[in-house]
Amino acid sequence: MIKPSNSNFWQSIINSVKSGWGKKKPALPKAKKINCRKVWELMDQYADLMVLGQDPRVLLPDVYQHLLACPKCKEELQALIRAIEADK
Ligand SMILES: [Zn+2]
Repeated sequence: MIKPSNSNFWQSIINSVKSGWGKKKPALPKAKKINCRKVWELMDQYADLMVLGQDPRVLLPDVYQHLLACPKCKEELQALIRAIEADK
């Protein structure tokens, strides 16, 4: 079971966005624009995927796209992940 430490995990996401992303255009599904409410509906799923070491960017690209632009939702997600990790 992969158990990412929260800060490092986010840093690696941020780094991957800063480095390759946008330049190389990885083969990710096309993301739709969704609003915060929709993100909150999917956030449980998203957090589970992250905790399980899956790649939610591929499985839930809409949410990922939103998180890049919305600090509020990103904070919510981080709190949720902390809660899940603490629960284990
Ligand atoms: Zn949002």
